[in-house]
Amino acid sequence: MIACFDIGGSAIKAALARSPADIEILGDTPTPRHDFDAFADLLDEAIARGGLPDGAPAALSITGVVDPASGAIKAANILCIDGRPLGADLSRRLGRPVLVANDADCFALAEAIEGAGAGHRVVFGAILGTGVGGGLVIDGRLLQGAGGFAGEWGHGPIAATRAGTPPADLPRWPCGCGQTGCVDTVGGARGLERLHRHLHGLERSSREIADGWLGGDAAATRTIDVWTDLVADPLALVVNIVGADVVPVGGGLGKVRPLIERLDAAVRARILRRASTPLVVPAQCRLEPGLIGAAILALRDNADAAA
Ligand SMILES: [Zn+2]
Repeated sequence: MIACFDIGGSAIKAALARSPADIEILGDTPTPRHDFDAFADLLDEAIARGGLPDGAPAALSITGVVDPASGAIKAANILCIDGRPLGADLSRRLGRPVLVANDADCFALAEAIEGAGAGHRVVFGAILGTGVGGGLVIDGRLLQGAGGFAGEWGHGPIAATRAGTPPADLPRWPCGCGQTGCVDTVGGARGLERLHRHLHGLERSSREIADGWLGGDAAATRTIDVWTDLVADPLALVVNIVGADVVPVGGGLGKVRPLIERLDAAVRARILRRASTPLVVPAQCRLEPGLIGAAILALRDNADAAA
């Protein structure tokens, strides 16, 4: 048995896992963002409450990128852990092995092993949530890459400045990463809302835009048309580069099935391989893919240590 945690900027969700398919949620608590001792104590207390045996490992899925070389985490929204070698610090503090992994990577791993990617060799997990993220799993193994950034297709100055039919002119919006024109600025829920505001001067939630599109609203239809071009281009490039056989999509927009079907058709029309079956598909791990991915990592680590 292992403990796993899904750590976001606002809440920490704790669970115990006997297998990736057998996860018992223990509950969630607000994230201590400014006090590392409180952060570590919270994990320790959850582990004690769950009755985890001494020495059994814990794994964290976290909104931050871990440098595989140094173990240092970049987590701008949780300042008390930002820059720390978090796995090493927590291992010492909790007296047990602690693995730390990026939440998009955990999502990709969960989908590759337990979800829409099961049975596929190259799985690119794409997150269209508040923003845009992703992770790459090959033959069941997560590829983290230099700096831990493998799969991060959401950043880089690559979003088209003309998109849709007929083409709309678009600015290069600044991104939180410091660049401009990132897919992250247009591809997630906030990006969809930004596009709608730019094209029509209307403040609508991503849910309202998706519902409007499905209901035949002309403005929403135009926004979705432009969005599809903006997201399908870079995603098709990713598929060509990594040779993905399947792209499970998570995050809020991933739950809008007709939107993912439309994105799938657009991506398949842009890639070199002629795929006759769906390639870009809704994620299947509806419940806590971060916890499932973290559990997979820690259970493997435990098995490797015992071998
Ligand atoms: Zn960016």
